[in-house]
Amino acid sequence: MRALPWIIGGGVAAYALTRSRGAKAPHGSTPIAPTTSPIAPTSSPPAPAFGGPLPGRWVWPVPSWQSRAPSISDGFGSPRPGGIRHGGVDVMFARLPSDTLRAGTPNGSAHHVMPDGMVALAASDGVVWSAMQTPRGFAVVIDHSPTKVATFYTHLEKLLVTPTANAKAGERVRAGQPIGIIGADPLDGEHLKHLHFEIWLGGPKDAIDPAPVMRAWTVVPDPTALVARNAGFIYRPIGDSGEAYPDWIRGLKGKAGCYVIRDLESREIVYVGSSAGRLYDTLTRHFQQWRRWKGFWKGQYGEGHDPGLTYDRDSVEVAVRLTSPTKSLDEEMRLIARLKPRDNLIGNSAAIADEVPF
Ligand SMILES: [Zn+2]
Repeated sequence: MRALPWIIGGGVAAYALTRSRGAKAPHGSTPIAPTTSPIAPTSSPPAPAFGGPLPGRWVWPVPSWQSRAPSISDGFGSPRPGGIRHGGVDVMFARLPSDTLRAGTPNGSAHHVMPDGMVALAASDGVVWSAMQTPRGFAVVIDHSPTKVATFYTHLEKLLVTPTANAKAGERVRAGQPIGIIGADPLDGEHLKHLHFEIWLGGPKDAIDPAPVMRAWTVVPDPTALVARNAGFIYRPIGDSGEAYPDWIRGLKGKAGCYVIRDLESREIVYVGSSAGRLYDTLTRHFQQWRRWKGFWKGQYGEGHDPGLTYDRDSVEVAVRLTSPTKSLDEEMRLIARLKPRDNLIGNSAAIADEVPF
């Protein structure tokens, strides 16, 4: 157990303290009575405006989403019913006209949106001081020792760190590490998903306005999105020869990325390829039967080798992953190593013409 004299009590106590100062009653809900008796904090009165910077590496506690940086949907000190004030900031994404997440649902208000399953990130390196269920969702406090700074995250619907109090688990987190899944405040009638985030220069009573400090922080991409993209590899049939290609294949014109061809019946992965900008042409050449007769593939591979790179459209299915033009070949290599396709020349695939030669 770590001795942290400036953080009094565990997460529930912290929760109770913030409740008792009426700090958090977002979206019109009424603050509730503390569930435990908080130990009186020894820290000084609320700090005046603090402009930072804080020592160490700091990132926004919400990653970017579809290349969009998160933003503050409700600021520190904004009034709450009963003359109380907001003790932190709420973080969401500013609504764009193209957003399909509707206002009035858990995923949207008039001006902001929050998709399902979005991760909350540790804002800086530290030790999880507390992580537990509270009436307002799972809450996490991270101690950023040796600096006398702690961060507080709540309304999480799921924890991605070990539940603990008083840092008993001793779990270290790094800046940008997912600590939970963002949910809604169960006591908030709107049930609007958002992250409530606080910075304490000491205990819960020493919350500062995070907004001026956060201006200098980095927004990082969602570290779980890479995993999700891998998991979302979907194989689909591409129709019979003579038919027009389906829309999702025609949509690959001018795009960069990788493709995987597998046998429809045996599910065996037969080929992995890529293109830095002509994905449609590079993929569909595998289904142009006439090229086999014209010796189209000859000379691209070892002498006398027939890689069997032309397939009957109705016997295979295809999965595609888009990448940036500079990443397509690396991703192809990775997929070949992982999927071990039947017809790729392992160890020689870099020599395979990436682009169609016309
Ligand atoms: Zn809030």
